[in-house]
Amino acid sequence: MADSIIVGGGPAGLSAAICLARYNRRVLVFDTGHGRSTHHQVNRNYLGFPGGIATVELRELATRQLSDYPAAQVLRHAVTGAEGDAERGFTVHTQSQEFRARTLILATGVLDHFPHFPGWERYVGESMFWCIACDGYENRGREILVVGHTDAAAAEAMQMHSLSDRVRLLTNSHRNEISEVLCRRLRAAGIPVLHDQIHTVEGDKGQLRTVVTRGGERLSLDALFSIQGATPETRLAAQLGVLLAPSGYIQVDTEQKTSVEAVYAAGDVTSLHSHQVSAAVHEGSQAASAANYFLYPPELKSA
Ligand SMILES: Cc1cc2nc3c(=O)[nH]c(=O)nc-3n(C[C@H](O)[C@H](O)[C@H](O)COP(=O)(O)OP(=O)(O)OC[C@H]3O[C@@H](n4cnc5c(N)ncnc54)[C@H](O)[C@@H]3O)c2cc1C
Repeated sequence: MADSIIVGGGPAGLSAAICLARYNRRVLVFDTGHGRSTHHQVNRNYLGFPGGIATVELRELATRQLSDYPAAQVLRHAVTGAEGDAERGFTVHTQSQEFRARTLILATGVLDHFPHFPGWERYVGESMFWCIACDGYENRGREILVVGHTDAAAAEAMQMHSLSDRVRLLTNSHRNEISEVLCRRLRAAGIPVLHDQIHTVEGDKGQLRTVVTRGGERLSLDALFSIQGATPETRLAAQLGVLLAPSGYIQVDTEQKTSVEAVYAAGDVTSLHSHQVSAAVHEGSQAASAANYFLYPPELKSA
């Protein structure tokens, strides 16, 4: 029986693992290597890295840092199921084996709904982005295509307009759900809205040059900001009976406790507002502290 099983080896899971390892806990981290932190982006807003650091490199550094602790192990397996409770402990299932632990940290991230066209993954983090705080600054003054059919996309286009006056919005959906208020604001700001869908793109080495729509428009661009939403990876949480917020993300308190005792959640899968590496690292370490406290024998607890 391990002290803690962490599902997800992105910034949140690795941060939790390092903190728990430093409390001398036996930790198993499961990771399939397909998350927000596995694309091509460079993080320029994470403290301590002049010029930025590729998220993939940050993961590699953290994994190396974790390897200093023999009681922590990273396993490249997908966790397909989870069950148990605080009294009996938890069991997680992979395709071939079961593993047990007294506490569980869910750091499973989200699945982003980027536009899909042949080779789309090559562009993510290079010239296809989703968050203004992450990649807006580098794209100031450039030709921006915001993609999405909701008020969130319209709001992103308006915000991008503070960084560039060459912003366009493409709904990329058969629906256009942008409210009249936002339509008025887009018009007033001079942001063209095209209600059409992506057919194909032209570009090379990760740099988008042209989006060709089904209607035959050719839209030149330097960067695409996709505001098409994301689905939090909450399947294991649901199996454990963990409460989700109305947004569909895992409901946690400020210590990263979920509604199920000894189950914690950290990073982008939680309902907390900021989905950034800095927040994921903080939430991971917070979840580790809460799990470590749970693992203390009663005489070490304050009450
Ligand atoms: C293009 C782009 C640019 C970005 N730029 C920035 C930036 O500049 N600054 C910034 O702060 N943030 C940025 N972000 C956001 C940042 O990458 C995320 O906030 C961060 O990766 C969240 O970390 P996480 O550990 O919660 O989730 P993730 O990084 O998504 O990691 C989750 C991990 O869990 C694993 N996993 C999920 N389910 C299972 C399972 N059942 N079994 C085993 N493993 C599982 C996945 O394989 C994945 O490796 C960017 C994101 C994107 C996509």
